Amino acid sequence: MPRCPSCGFEGELGSFKQLRGNWKYNFYTVYRLQCPVCGSVFNYYVGISPRGKPSSFTIASKPRPQARK
Ligand SMILES: [Zn+2]
Repeated sequence: MPRCPSCGFEGELGSFKQLRGNWKYNFYTVYRLQCPVCGSVFNYYVGISPRGKPSSFTIASKPRPQARK
C-alpha cells in the first residue's frame, strides 16, 4: 500500500491521484502519485524481486519550482 512520504497518509492505490501512466523499472512497476491530503508528489515502486520477495517503496519528488516573475 502506498504511503505518502510527506504526511504519512496511507491508502489504497486508488485513493491517490495517479499523475501519469505507470511504467516499468527493473522488476518494479512505478506509479507517479499525488497525495490527496497534502498534495505531495512521489513515485511508488512495487514489484516482486527475482527471488520472489515482494518489495515496495516510495521516493518523494521535489515540487516543481514556481515560475519566476
Ligand atoms: Zn501527504
